[in-house]
Amino acid sequence: MSDTSTPVTRQQWQQLADQLRFEGRAYINGASQWAVSGETFPCISPVDGRQLAQVASCDQADAEQAVIAARQAFEQGGWSRLAPTERKRVLIRFAELIEANGDELALLETLDMGKPIAHSRAVDVPATARAIRWTAEAIDKVYGELAATPHDQIGMISREPVGVVAAIVPWNFPMIMASWKIAPALATGNSVILKPSEKSPLTAIRLAALAEEAGIPAGVFNVLPGFGHTVGKALALHMDVDCLVFTGSTNVAKQLMIYAGQSNMKRVWLEAGGKSPNIVFADAPDLKKAAAEAASAIAFNQGEVCTAGSRLLVQESIRDEFVHMVCDALKSWHPGHPLDPATTCGAIVDQAQLDRVIGYISIGQAEGAKLVQGGKRIMEDTGGLFVEPTVFDGVLNPMRIASEEIFGPVLSVIGFNSVDEALTIANDSIYGLAAAVWTSNLNTAHKVARALRAGSVWINHYDGGDMTAPFGGFKQSGNGRDKSLHAFDKYTELKATWIALD
Ligand code: NAD
Repeated sequence: MSDTSTPVTRQQWQQLADQLRFEGRAYINGASQWAVSGETFPCISPVDGRQLAQVASCDQADAEQAVIAARQAFEQGGWSRLAPTERKRVLIRFAELIEANGDELALLETLDMGKPIAHSRAVDVPATARAIRWTAEAIDKVYGELAATPHDQIGMISREPVGVVAAIVPWNFPMIMASWKIAPALATGNSVILKPSEKSPLTAIRLAALAEEAGIPAGVFNVLPGFGHTVGKALALHMDVDCLVFTGSTNVAKQLMIYAGQSNMKRVWLEAGGKSPNIVFADAPDLKKAAAEAASAIAFNQGEVCTAGSRLLVQESIRDEFVHMVCDALKSWHPGHPLDPATTCGAIVDQAQLDRVIGYISIGQAEGAKLVQGGKRIMEDTGGLFVEPTVFDGVLNPMRIASEEIFGPVLSVIGFNSVDEALTIANDSIYGLAAAVWTSNLNTAHKVARALRAGSVWINHYDGGDMTAPFGGFKQSGNGRDKSLHAFDKYTELKATWIALD
């Protein structure tokens, strides 16, 4: 289905949804196929509880086929040895096809994981296309190096594709997270096996067809839907996978390091969890803007965001006033039907995640934090999975709601007095993905930004980012970086070649 006119009403989106055909097969070596075992799993929409499709439940046998195909394609060189300019051309075509099929991809994303259609259409689709296009455009502009050698030697430093890359991704931004991996992996000439989350497999499967249409050769890009403990584990333990790239939880990230150690020491690059501090000083230049962004930082994508500003650190002198402003701002994030273009906050991805979010709300109350807004499941009669954006005030950093990643719209407000106290609280976390600081004081801004142990720091805004800058975490938020030219480090081996001159 290609774009003619993007729907503007919920009814029009629903009509389009009614016409959708859902592909549930894996994509291996240029062909769609069911799992070798014949097993499938149901793909249930959190929007209304309806089954969208049966999806191939891949396991070790499918991983085996995909790795053989990927290896053969890599060795044959139809992609790996193609001129970078040619790979660029194909990948740009891939990005164009994503844009041309944007309505369909946005719908698949919304129906599959519950995010508002307005966001799938305006954020997920363009960001996916941009990641692929930006990376493609860069690939014929990177050069090797010459070492500072003595006169009778030449030392050439070059980069080569690592080989077969397995990419295991989560469900919160299924397409975007996939694109951050597959774009640099493919651009640098690798063969790729993408394993989407079992909670959101549909767009990855659709991307495979678009990649084929763009001209990516058979075997170079494969998609294996299925569960982590089956096909994910098989890929992570495989002796012929050279590199494993992952976005997901810290617990699974640690397990993948073990799998790599138990198998072939494949390179493992991890983007994991977060519990990001959003620090608001009394001298913030615009408290209204800070409150609006504190609200979106916890409610955008239903709070299912690795960089969610889930710990709101507020200077005591403005705490009551500011919490009130945040609660007010959260009213514009009241959940609604995800196909309604006016909806800002959609459905939680599945029952297990909803139970987790509700469970943490109970934990917060039991820990003695003060529930000041939200706290309940709503719209149950729709058959969908919706929860109110929730605010706890009077939270102490050691409480579980402040130290553990909830991955839902639950905000913990923690008071502080001084710059040093704010920094101590902010850095007292196993995570180090992102952080923000709001202040008009240049000294405070720089001092805090420098001392924050986080891969991304925002001053006087929340959640900035672009393909032009690296993204990733300190501490147990991961290693390596996605996006920007730094992402190429994950997908290439550095080679030093020495020439002795007579
Ligand atoms: P998850 O760790 O449960 O699953 C992620 C992926 O790993 C899925 O595809 C899953 O099937 C697979 N998996 C699970 N167990 C596995 C195993 N034993 N072997 C191999 N694969 C396995 O995470 P999730 O619930 O899908 O996503 C939420 C998490 O992702 C949160 O912790 C969030 O912070 C994190 N996340 C991080 C970033 C980032 O860039 N740092 C971005 C988005 C999400």
